[in-house]
Amino acid sequence: MHFSFMGKQGGSHPEENKSRTSKLPIVDASVPKIMVFPVAMHIGAPAKPVVEIGDQVKAGQIIAEEGGFVSAHVYSSVSGEVIGLEKRPTVGGEADSIIIKNDYQYTKADPIVEPGHSHEMSKDDILSTVRKAGIVGMGGATFPTAVKLSPPPGMTIDTLIINGAECEPYSTSDHRVMVEHADEIIDGINLSRKLFPQLKKIYIGIEDNKPDAIKKMKEAAAEFDDISVRPLKSMYPQGSEKNLIQNLAGREVPPGGLPAEVRCVVANTSTIRSVYRACEYGEPLIERIVSVSGTPVKEPKNLRVKIGTPMDSLIDDCGGFAEVPGKVFGGGPMMGKTVSDLGVPIIKGTTAVTVLTPEEAHIGEEQDCIMCAECIHVCPVSLQPILISEAFERGNIEKAKELGAMDCIECGNCSFICPSKIPLLENIRSAKAAIKQKEEK
Ligand code: SF4
Ligand code: SF4
Repeated sequence: MHFSFMGKQGGSHPEENKSRTSKLPIVDASVPKIMVFPVAMHIGAPAKPVVEIGDQVKAGQIIAEEGGFVSAHVYSSVSGEVIGLEKRPTVGGEADSIIIKNDYQYTKADPIVEPGHSHEMSKDDILSTVRKAGIVGMGGATFPTAVKLSPPPGMTIDTLIINGAECEPYSTSDHRVMVEHADEIIDGINLSRKLFPQLKKIYIGIEDNKPDAIKKMKEAAAEFDDISVRPLKSMYPQGSEKNLIQNLAGREVPPGGLPAEVRCVVANTSTIRSVYRACEYGEPLIERIVSVSGTPVKEPKNLRVKIGTPMDSLIDDCGGFAEVPGKVFGGGPMMGKTVSDLGVPIIKGTTAVTVLTPEEAHIGEEQDCIMCAECIHVCPVSLQPILISEAFERGNIEKAKELGAMDCIECGNCSFICPSKIPLLENIRSAKAAIKQKEEK
């Protein structure tokens, strides 16, 4: 049985373009001499550096401590010397960063918990280990996982949804994690279930363009009656939290509401695997799988990457560019953010590096809106993107808020479809940031 897109409207069918990497096994990426660790690679307060220039660090050593309840520790993924504490470009802007010169010794720090005891862990042990490991949403959202797995008091969770949809074009990192590490995902689910005593059902949602991942996950989950692997129709943005909850649990999250309000928690497959690895092996989050693909990339790959590795090193691992790139995204082309400097590092939420040609990226002059309403038709949360974008451009932040800007899930459908090349998503993201800033004052 297939579960289809049940939003009131919206969704689109961008070319999937996954075939160049979907069957390729994960291989290790090269590790360059200079590694860059932004202290804000998660949603929430930036982490605070606890190292100084000249310090020697080990691989798996904490280099910046969480800056608040909604925050995450940052660890070095290599051993070496701290050679800089400075602003560096990162995906989506600039951030204070810790620069480490790799000594290629890979001297390891002590594990964050004693390995081999995950099965004995209590709820509190699991949550404190997840927090200690600096785990954040690895599907791109980067919300601290310990906070996500601790629903607000009074809210009961009866459904855990594991997001293996990976609906972004080109991206195949979660796909390969499911094919190659299905058992660790199930182990992560079985640890996470201890956190929710009222849990009744666990769904693993996977788009039907990944039959090998569906098969592997079904095999790994076979002995657990309450885990159900559900194929989902391939349609963008199938993997958004609200869509998954609606399609799998049949519940609607109220506008501006949290999944916990409808008794659900949604976690990405790679995140859940990291929960297992932190609890079982005492590993902090220092590496992740990244797919590198797109027409200009000579030899696309799925790479196991140490966090902090600059993107240009991954491009080199993939043989460089066969033609001049138009746009490079940290993430997929729909929700990812463009980068203007290939020195930006891979961070915890970087699922993919996607490179488009100038033609594919629709690079060209922005035109006036022709009022075709296409952006409205494709919006999965029933917004009017052009009106929000216009309100933002006029500086009318209140109006943008009234029009529901904060409900935008940043799927990028509107920008993708717009024949006039209006940067709708970019404007709506900026509107959301301006609304937040105003509210914080
Ligand atoms: S980016 Fe936001 S406004 Fe645009 S289609 Fe997606 S949800 Fe709607
Ligand atoms: S899709 Fe573009 S041109 Fe069409 S209404 Fe929306 S903003 Fe205007």
